[in-house]
Amino acid sequence: METSQEWETVIGLEIHTQLATKSKIFSGAATAYGAAPNTQACAVDLGLPGVLPVLNEQAVTMAVKFGLAIEAEIAPYSVFARKNYFYPDLPKGYQISQLELPIVDKGHLDIDVDGTTKRIGITRAHLEEDAGKSLHENFHGMSGIDLNRAGTPLLEIVSEPEMRSAKEAVAYMRKIHELVRYLGICDGNMQEGSFRCDANVSVRPKGQQEFGTRAEIKNINSFKFVEKAINHEVARQIEVIERGGKVAQETRLYDSAKDETRSMRSKEEANDYRYFPDPDLLPVHISEDFKAKIKLQLPELPEAKKLRFKEQYQLDDENAGILTSSRQLADYFEAVVKESSCKAKLCANWITGDLVAALNKADLDITESPVNYHRFAGLLLRINDDTISGKIAKQVFELMWQSSLTADEIIAEKGLKQITDTGAIEAVIDKIIANNAKQIEQYLAGNEKMFGFFVGQVMKEMQGKANPAEVNKMLKAKLK
Ligand code: ADP
Ligand code: MG
Repeated sequence: METSQEWETVIGLEIHTQLATKSKIFSGAATAYGAAPNTQACAVDLGLPGVLPVLNEQAVTMAVKFGLAIEAEIAPYSVFARKNYFYPDLPKGYQISQLELPIVDKGHLDIDVDGTTKRIGITRAHLEEDAGKSLHENFHGMSGIDLNRAGTPLLEIVSEPEMRSAKEAVAYMRKIHELVRYLGICDGNMQEGSFRCDANVSVRPKGQQEFGTRAEIKNINSFKFVEKAINHEVARQIEVIERGGKVAQETRLYDSAKDETRSMRSKEEANDYRYFPDPDLLPVHISEDFKAKIKLQLPELPEAKKLRFKEQYQLDDENAGILTSSRQLADYFEAVVKESSCKAKLCANWITGDLVAALNKADLDITESPVNYHRFAGLLLRINDDTISGKIAKQVFELMWQSSLTADEIIAEKGLKQITDTGAIEAVIDKIIANNAKQIEQYLAGNEKMFGFFVGQVMKEMQGKANPAEVNKMLKAKLK
């Protein structure tokens, strides 16, 4: 659309992360995913009368960890409030959340988009309980209720409306995802709903200070869908305005099957939650000592690790970024460097190249890699000492992926050892020169491109096993 230049997009995200505690935020019931319905819901989660919630200290610790990692202010005093509304998966009739005094206040996070770094403000992060789930399948016109999720601790992370494109929103969401996994406070499993977000989207004429009216797109559980939902919503709002209409402040739902957003409820129908401090729970006090203790437990964070990788291993920005995208991948890389004592750059290129590609293709995490760091280091050793060429190494890697053999076993079994014997290479070169008189003539007449042809012919004849550097050198000498 020609006119799209005139509009600016404004986005703020509310990200819900399920904290990886063993038990619920206010009860002792287990939080593990996938149990049979209602087998992990105790009297507190069911909202039975007469029970009392007891705050899980682990959830508080995790929230503080997150706060420290985003350089936020940790509230010395925070309060749980009741957010009152009725829904079948919320039997108490209210959700325990935090409103006026959240545990984590003002912080920030830097994102990188198209080579520039941008700081995104984080307004707050508060603790609350998740609701249960309504089940609609196989109930013959009725719905079932599973309260296993009720009371699972959530940290809701609210950003400032400072993102200006879907791309920035995705970069921010990825960064938060990376961070909570580094901190070990959330498993980040988006299919299981451990990490999901609401996207607030508005548009305004470029140059205008005032924000436009926003729509809130609820419960998006993949990076791809966030990007699509926002782009779709931006286009829809621009169209509404350009036709002379007004964007309504409302809650919308993203339908990934149809790639569209639909209205769920308007602001007029929105609930008045009648928040008030929960009389069953004491305010949370965080002492300087407690904060200091947690600070000591913080792991090296992604940003710091990336910087260290660039300095210590002389990696470029891209490789350092990929390798530190998860703590486990970074650990794998460092283990390979240490074990193989090969140049870090060689290790980085192979891990971010062939290994990551194979993992992505098989939809596996580095912790599930069929080739562990030990075997991978064994492969790099053989590239490093010229036993095999890079090209043959790709074949060896593929075979390692499909078996539990080491690189050395595969190289021996398949006879893939690189030929560096100059006599053998010379014999083949002589044969190629003798059989390609016409091409030689062209080359000698100045067609430089023919050189690649000769290299190719020699390599083909030697089944890719000749040392490429040696072939190049000898060919150059012969064709003078
Ligand atoms: P609510 O409690 O109604 O959801 P908040 O003021 O807490 O409202 O804002 C929720 C989210 O919406 C925040 O992430 C904020 O950055 C974002 N937001 C607020 N105003 C706008 C706007 N005009 N356009 C886009 N996002 C916005
Ligand atoms: Mg909201």
